[in-house]
Amino acid sequence: MHILDTPIDFLKGVGPLRSDLLKKELRIFTYGDLLMHYPFRYIDRSKIHIIAELRESMPNIQLKGKIIKFEEKGHKRAKRLIAHFQDETGIVELVWFKGARWIRSSIKLHTEYIVFGKPSAFKGNFNIVHPEMDMQEENQQFTAGLQAVYHATELLNAKGLSSRAIGKLTKGLLPLLKNQLEETLSASLVDKLNLPTRVQALVDVHQPKDAKSLVRAQKRLKFEEFFFLQLHLLKLKLTRNKKFKGYPFENLGECFNEFYNKHLPFELTGAQKRVIKEIRNDVRNPKQMNRLLQGDVGSGKTLVALLSMLMAVDNGYQACLMAPTEILARQHFTTISEYLKEQNIKVAILTGSTKTKDRRVLHEQLENGEIDILIGTHALIEDKVVFQNLAFVVIDEQHRFGVAQRAKLWKKNKFPPHMLVMTATPIPRTLSMTLYGDLDVSIIDELPPGRKEVKTMWKTDSSRLQIINFMREQIALQRQIYVVFPLIEESEKLDYKNLMEGYNAIDREFPMPEFQVSVVHGQMKAEDKEYEMKRFVDGVTNIMVATTVIEVGVNVPNASVMIIESAERFGLSQLHQLRGRVGRGAEQSYCILVSGNKVSVEGKTRLQTMVDTNDGFKISEVDLELRGPGDMMGTKQSGELNFKIADIIADNKILHFARNEADLLLKEDEELEKAENINIARAYRPYARERMGWSRIS
Ligand code: ADP
Ligand code: MG
Repeated sequence: MHILDTPIDFLKGVGPLRSDLLKKELRIFTYGDLLMHYPFRYIDRSKIHIIAELRESMPNIQLKGKIIKFEEKGHKRAKRLIAHFQDETGIVELVWFKGARWIRSSIKLHTEYIVFGKPSAFKGNFNIVHPEMDMQEENQQFTAGLQAVYHATELLNAKGLSSRAIGKLTKGLLPLLKNQLEETLSASLVDKLNLPTRVQALVDVHQPKDAKSLVRAQKRLKFEEFFFLQLHLLKLKLTRNKKFKGYPFENLGECFNEFYNKHLPFELTGAQKRVIKEIRNDVRNPKQMNRLLQGDVGSGKTLVALLSMLMAVDNGYQACLMAPTEILARQHFTTISEYLKEQNIKVAILTGSTKTKDRRVLHEQLENGEIDILIGTHALIEDKVVFQNLAFVVIDEQHRFGVAQRAKLWKKNKFPPHMLVMTATPIPRTLSMTLYGDLDVSIIDELPPGRKEVKTMWKTDSSRLQIINFMREQIALQRQIYVVFPLIEESEKLDYKNLMEGYNAIDREFPMPEFQVSVVHGQMKAEDKEYEMKRFVDGVTNIMVATTVIEVGVNVPNASVMIIESAERFGLSQLHQLRGRVGRGAEQSYCILVSGNKVSVEGKTRLQTMVDTNDGFKISEVDLELRGPGDMMGTKQSGELNFKIADIIADNKILHFARNEADLLLKEDEELEKAENINIARAYRPYARERMGWSRIS
């Protein structure tokens, strides 16, 4: 057993009670877990401020003084404990809303303390809420200028396992490990990047001598964390390339060339051309392609998909395109059939509502190879659907499909077809490098020319009349309007009520027979939804009142106004998706965000970002900053984003660095066999074992 696997119970100072707490509260089971329970910040113990110089703009600071009086104020929820804390220059109030009893019994009056916290001003006086308190003499044991602060839960604090106690345990642990921690990077990497050794970094991160050695230690540990992940992702990719043969599309032929030269309705954008080249370069090899195509709504992904599918057809293979909803599948089918109408290429559609009789014919034509391109919904992954020779699969809006569904498509031929998964939800590059690091990523970052930017406005409830008038004007111009209400699971009933009230209000303002208003929401039967959607798509109704069901993919070029109610309750990427429903035709389009009067700071940032920009990638960067990677991508994926010390936003330079180094390394030593890489190979083996079966797309 490696010393890092030693149960935490064996550490001096950890009795049964503490070991239990460490396990339950912090999931620290072993020496290794404790070692990697890194401090989350450091207190600069070298600087002590005086009360007279406090400013509200100050971050967390230290004061030295004594408590001269305790008092309790307020009732029930507002109840709080206040301590009057004094130094030679003045008095501040220390405030606790919780744990008053514990504070009073453990903190002494008229005794010197160092307090740590953020000062805020209240009626000309300063106070610090829930400060950290250190007794002066106790503090002395940390002679260094920087003191590590560890995450400790309230329970741990109450049971005496405070940040400081954890610090002491770590201090006891480090000497035990010193000669037993193997280096995990190669000498040449450590040298090239001017990093400290692993042992040095681990010591310095827990007990930094000074700011400089701390920064170096952190850099080393962050690099290491990113490096092994990137190494793993790149290795997954290499292994897959070796394991799965692909169908080589050796030549571009008549289908592609005729369409490209004669029937392409417009010049491709530079970005579309680039992506098609990227795909072309992949599929000409006998290796399976796995490519994620990101492109904002309206960036023209469908054409890229079509041209790629034609490459398959030209080489005697079949292709399919799967979309998440029936409406989307139909739209793709109509568009693509129209594009190909002059050519002798058979396109078919298969959805849940395809009649049994038609289905039988279709199955036959698929099996005997008559159908070249099949477009459909989930229906096309069913086992009954057998292709003669499927070699290219496109998945639209890939986030709407589960891994299992995609995996079924892999099995539709002897070896897996090339996969092109498309998404209109741009994610920042740092994120995709981590989440989809084992895929190739293509980006369309350019909209077709002549597209008018959607004009976005932010209004409050008080502008109701103005908004109604604007809607009247637009309808008079023959345009159609979406009105979207939030539907959040937790407040579903209330949201549903709001939607219906909103619908009734609109219905009153826009009465029949002059106007037609549709409503679509989650509680309706699927067929009723489809019916209402279709009426809107066909231009029968002027206004579509809906919850977010319309979020994905629907294309109604004549709809030029998107009104989003309670807009402050939507996330940024959702707002962006919704706005993408308009601006698809030649007309100037508008997006009106309606919010209440009280909006949180974060809510304001979201709405203002929407007003300021139409660029999906910019919006996703803001979203990432506001929410952090875990929240942004949903809990499912946050496992991959759980870093112990690195932060993909703050440390994205190191991430790029690590990716690059991992790439270089594998180019020189794919199997990690060279003597100089022995450290890396040794560290990588258990890392890979823990992450088996990790590929997000297989
Ligand atoms: P998305 O990427 O959202 O799937 P689509 O493929 O639906 O976008 O394309 C949006 C619209 O832009 C379509 O009406 C399509 O015909 C048009 N379009 C696509 N590429 C071009 C281009 N290069 N020039 C002009 N219009 C284009
Ligand atoms: Mg699309």
